Amino acid sequence: SKKSPVTLIGLGPMGQAMVRTLLGQGHPVTVWNRTPSRAEPLVVEGARLAASPTEAVASSDLVILSLTDYQAMYDILSTAESALAGRTIVNLSSDDPDVTREAAKWAAKHGATFIAGGVMTPAPTVGTEAAYVFYSGPKSAFDAHEPVLRHIGGPRFLGEDTGLAQLYYLAHLDVFLTTLASVVHATALVSAAGVDEAAFAPEAIRMVIETGQMLAAEAETGLELGRNLASGNHPGELATAVMMGATADHIVSAAKGSGVDLVLPEAVKSLYDRTVAAGHGKDSWTAMYEIIKKKAA
Ligand code: NDP
Repeated sequence: SKKSPVTLIGLGPMGQAMVRTLLGQGHPVTVWNRTPSRAEPLVVEGARLAASPTEAVASSDLVILSLTDYQAMYDILSTAESALAGRTIVNLSSDDPDVTREAAKWAAKHGATFIAGGVMTPAPTVGTEAAYVFYSGPKSAFDAHEPVLRHIGGPRFLGEDTGLAQLYYLAHLDVFLTTLASVVHATALVSAAGVDEAAFAPEAIRMVIETGQMLAAEAETGLELGRNLASGNHPGELATAVMMGATADHIVSAAKGSGVDLVLPEAVKSLYDRTVAAGHGKDSWTAMYEIIKKKAA
């Protein structure tokens, strides 16, 4: 059967990988990029380079964007407004959830349907089993394009609130970026004492894995994180906020002594200090949720 045409605007590492995946699935793919030279290898592989954003948008009902942020979408599509009516725009770029909600209104004004997405994989694994993608927006439009979108990665539709896809994406990246920073910080702490980074970094990485395993295993002992956060029940029999906070303080102290940057450990120490000050000293470390979460109005 004849595969539907797809337009892909934005040929960074992610957009390029998506174009290759869609071409590999037999879809005719029209591309456009601010820097046209980035399209050259893709044209050799079968993509068609549109001469303008208007031509790119007019080429397919499904228009996928892979850009640095939503401002890039406005910069590009504001020159193509006449072609937008009837198209479905799937924006897989990162931005604030509220910015994505505004974009849905902007698209509607031009007669286009808007779906926000967040791709949970680096470029080399786009189109593989490892990739998954959050989506939010009109369910019927998502369903209509799901057979094409699933080639990029396993789709996870979150709901009709357009902001959800980037909210989930950013929440996952919150874990990811903080973890990456902690691994680098821990390595700096040890290397300040003369230990080779190459020798220590694998140990820091193993700690990330062990942390994940601990959180996963606790589901079986009734200490499951999500349940405790939701209930406000923070049993501290095994490890208290006071004990963990003292350790957080020791990390700051060690960091000061070794001359490495203090921002990350001081942020963690601050969370424990305020958790204890709020009367949760004998509770579990999970009680920091009471400090962190949005306060009831
Ligand atoms: P980049 O963020 O480096 O850039 C993507 C594209 O944005 C390029 O085509 C660039 O054009 C274009 N662009 C940026 N600003 C403008 C503008 N003002 N006007 C016109 N075009 C503009 O690419 P990535 O492929 O790395 O990332 C794309 C999206 O995917 C990002 O939102 C990122 O957060 C997300 N993502 C990235 C991952 C990764 O591992 N790289 C993993 C998961 C998600 P030009 O070529 O002309 O510079």
